[in-house]
Amino acid sequence: MGDRWHVEVDRAVCIGSGMCVNLAPDGFALDTARQSRPRAAGTDPDERVLAAAEGCPVEAITLTLADGGEPVFPPREE
Ligand code: SF4
Repeated sequence: MGDRWHVEVDRAVCIGSGMCVNLAPDGFALDTARQSRPRAAGTDPDERVLAAAEGCPVEAITLTLADGGEPVFPPREE
């Protein structure tokens, strides 16, 4: 996989299920308000981080290419 990813969690949407932390403990952590935060704003492409974004029940996680902002997840609709 190529370029680095930018990781964002929409805290207005996150319901604190903890799914992303279970799927990618290196990528996400719950804060004291039980909301998810990315552990870093950027990551090398990582299947677990992608699985976490795909597995989030409310689609609060957005992945984009750090260089150029192209969507990684959710994918752009054709
Ligand atoms: S899986 Fe989604 S809703 Fe659950 S803690 Fe992570 S970002 Fe929040």
